Amino acid sequence: MPFRFVVVLVSFLTLAARMSAEKPFDFTTTPGKLPKEVVPTEYAIRIVPKIDKLTFTGSETVKINVRTPASQLVLNALELEVGSASVDDQPLPKSAIKIDKKQELLTLSLPAELPVGDHIVTLNFSGKINQQGQGLFYAHYQEQETNAKKIVLGTQFEATDARRFFPCWDEPSFRARFQLTAVIPENWFAVSNMPVESGRKINNEKEVRFAPTPPMSSYLNVFVAGELDFIETQSNGVQIRVITTKGKSEWGRYALESSTKILAYYNDYFGVPYPLPKLDQIALPGGFGGAMENWGGITYFESVLLFDPEKSSDDTKQDIFAVLAHEMAHMWFGDLVTMAWWDNLWLNEGFASWMGTKCTAHFNPQWEVWLRNNEPRNPTRRVGIAKEQAMEGDARSTSHPIQQPIANEAEASTAFDDITYQKGQSFIRMLESFLGEDVFRDGIRRYISAHKLSNSTTADLWNSLAEASGKPIGEIAAGWTERPGFPVVKVRRDEGGKVSLRQERFSINQKNAFPFEWKIPLSYHVLGQAPQSRLMSDKTDNLEDIPADRALKLNVDGAGYYRVQYDPRSWDLLVTSLGDLSVEDRVNLACDAWALVQADRAPLSLYLGLIEKLPGLTELAEREQMINAFDYINRLLVGHPDREKFQRYARSILRPTFDALGWDPKPGEPTKATNLRASLIIALGHLNDPGIIAGCRERFQKYVTEPASLPPDLRRAIFSVVGRYADETTWSKLHTLGLKTTSSEEKQNYYDALAHAVDPKLVTKTLQIALTDELPTSRAIFLVGKVARYSDHPDIAWQFAQANMKALLAKADALAINSYAPSLFTFFSEPAHIEELKAYAKANLPASSAKEVAKAVEEIEFRSAFKGRLVPQLRGWIDSRTSKK
Ligand SMILES: [Zn+2]
Repeated sequence: MPFRFVVVLVSFLTLAARMSAEKPFDFTTTPGKLPKEVVPTEYAIRIVPKIDKLTFTGSETVKINVRTPASQLVLNALELEVGSASVDDQPLPKSAIKIDKKQELLTLSLPAELPVGDHIVTLNFSGKINQQGQGLFYAHYQEQETNAKKIVLGTQFEATDARRFFPCWDEPSFRARFQLTAVIPENWFAVSNMPVESGRKINNEKEVRFAPTPPMSSYLNVFVAGELDFIETQSNGVQIRVITTKGKSEWGRYALESSTKILAYYNDYFGVPYPLPKLDQIALPGGFGGAMENWGGITYFESVLLFDPEKSSDDTKQDIFAVLAHEMAHMWFGDLVTMAWWDNLWLNEGFASWMGTKCTAHFNPQWEVWLRNNEPRNPTRRVGIAKEQAMEGDARSTSHPIQQPIANEAEASTAFDDITYQKGQSFIRMLESFLGEDVFRDGIRRYISAHKLSNSTTADLWNSLAEASGKPIGEIAAGWTERPGFPVVKVRRDEGGKVSLRQERFSINQKNAFPFEWKIPLSYHVLGQAPQSRLMSDKTDNLEDIPADRALKLNVDGAGYYRVQYDPRSWDLLVTSLGDLSVEDRVNLACDAWALVQADRAPLSLYLGLIEKLPGLTELAEREQMINAFDYINRLLVGHPDREKFQRYARSILRPTFDALGWDPKPGEPTKATNLRASLIIALGHLNDPGIIAGCRERFQKYVTEPASLPPDLRRAIFSVVGRYADETTWSKLHTLGLKTTSSEEKQNYYDALAHAVDPKLVTKTLQIALTDELPTSRAIFLVGKVARYSDHPDIAWQFAQANMKALLAKADALAINSYAPSLFTFFSEPAHIEELKAYAKANLPASSAKEVAKAVEEIEFRSAFKGRLVPQLRGWIDSRTSKK
């Protein structure tokens, strides 16, 4: 197919050009659109929001340093009107001020060449307060306790939206000090990166001036204002606050306590103490959906920051800790040291994901974060282990290297994907386990101290790690960060204790994938012996003196980013020794087996034969691996006559675990049991287990009149099962509960339950909610994706989205625009939808969505082919089970 050919060719050529191209950070040669002759050093910005008009006016004075004489100044501005400008107090004529909307540039033509040295630019401007999380935005919400309708303002600038708030050199390598002043209503409270320096009353309003920041990238600025509350503490000389809308600050207690622990951990790990006088964790009730690492003022959608001890679940607690740990890691990796350009975004995100997971695991070993979905439950993502998610996508032809060329602003926002975050963190984990924790940390400390208050590239990180370890890190890493994909290591037992290893590229649904090879930091152990590691530098390698009768496990604890395929003899030895392997190793075997089936490298019986023998009846991560695979099959079989037969089989595997756990939490039971009980209720409910469905309904009825009767940890699970099989009355009950609550977490649970409904009449009713203001804008648009995923009716969801696309996209942020429509197609498995998507994209989507369209096309192709292979194998396996019994 010509399209695929082009993709392979391009990625190969890019590679050839890039493999040796990465250099240490150098400002002058850093990619970007802005000329490097003029650099800003200090901004003083004053903003006056006009809340009733949803606009603002602003003025700024920027100290610039002219490095070579300049006849014009070029900076970024978007959706701003620039009223006047002057340079060194000389006003420029109107005609000298030009805004190029498409290029997002503001050009000031100068009357005479500006000589080398320091100068002052002054600008007056005005802009819009947006509904979606781009630039300055607003969110309406119902206030806790008073129930009054209120408004809060916030900002979201990454990747390239600071330019919507004030004209600026909006590329990460243009570091400068920023000092913000804002005028707000008198009863409001304002937060920015730094503490308040001074304040004064102006008529009925007040002016708040914040202290200037250290030199930083423009996208890290923050401004939040509204009727806010906070709780605070001091730790190592740093003021830490959790800031919320009025009436919710006590729910910030868990985040405040966790922040204190995490800060101390990072101060030690990085070897450089947190560099700002304060750290604010700011909970926003809407406007944007995730969390953003603004330096000193991190913003969160409130359900990933607030914990109500009476109503919140342990899952929520895990999400909060994980997100805090990720965002706080950015205070060093991202903020103190910032990637030079968006092609190195993974330096921020892969690292923060790894560091956050490591820190979360350190304080909360009971959560098994490396083995479970170690990232917050993102509404549009499949649940599963982060590494597995990355590997699934990375095995496809639409994958890309961790480091990828980013030409412009539109491309910058496409870089925030699974490869950047999850492959990034998985590769770092493999490297750390290869080098050893202490050596790796030593390298990180060198890196932070060498590049603090500056920018860096991946090469800088490898150089620091190479200094610390004495190993050629850049050479080892190149294959993993500058190429797409990853290897499978094939294991074959030969005579005389010799084991031959051979690597191949592991691919799914792609013919003629380019046969890359990797330098693999390989680990292995012979059962009962200490783990070993070695670098597999060639296509083949050998292990010697492996006892013929002992199991050999590669990829110890699954810490490596590669698959392993064993020959039958090695596999049989492993399967008969499962009870002696660690849970980590068993989960890794199950993940690899499932992936080999998906890649058509092994029959389904390899996977099912393994999981039927897994010994840990109530081992959380082990059972969840099966739950995820069964869930995938169950959704693939929507509308297929074999679905019921499969559901019966899957229930027969999972139900004994639930029966062992029971409905009710036992006093003092470990968190793992609680988590597993909830996962099983959802899984079995979706697999149509009559006992589970009846049990959920009964508990929901009781909950309605007596909320305390249902433990918070089970609510999400029970609501989703009740929602799935809801009739009109139950749907309305859930809806009313959702409308009433002021807790974002509870609201989410109820609306998620609505998205599960399978009755087509109710599916349509749920979809309509996406157009209302019942949910914060950032959540409303995901409702459609959830319906596509859970309702068994992706077709109804897509028809609805297509008919209402404009209204839906008006609620989306910069990151969602490219992927929103294509993502709704990933729940289809009929090839007819491929042409439909292509035609839709051609007529309606911007060029920057091409990658997302290709990914969705590939997913449909895969699902269709996989379903074709799976059905007869599944039938054969289940029949053979029944006839044996
Ligand atoms: Zn991040």
